[in-house]
Amino acid sequence: MYLLKVYCANCQTLLYKYQKEGPGFLIKCYKDRIQEDYTNGDLKCPKCGEKFARDAMYQRKPANKIIRAKVYVRR
Ligand SMILES: [Zn+2]
Repeated sequence: MYLLKVYCANCQTLLYKYQKEGPGFLIKCYKDRIQEDYTNGDLKCPKCGEKFARDAMYQRKPANKIIRAKVYVRR
C-alpha cells in the first residue's frame, strides 16, 4: 500500500490522502482507506463544488467511485 494524494481536476484542491493498494488508475476509494478527508463528506470538492465521486459498494465494502477525469493523483 502507498499513499496517494487525490486532487480536484477543476481547481487543484486536495481532497483526500488515500492508501492505495496495487497498480493502475484510481477507480474507487474505499472509505476505510481514506487517511485524511479534506472534503465535507458529500463527494463534492469543498472549493468549487464539483462532484467527483458516487457512493458505491465494492466487495461489500463502502467506497467512493471516482468520476473519471474529475480528479488527478500525485504520490
Ligand atoms: Zn474543485
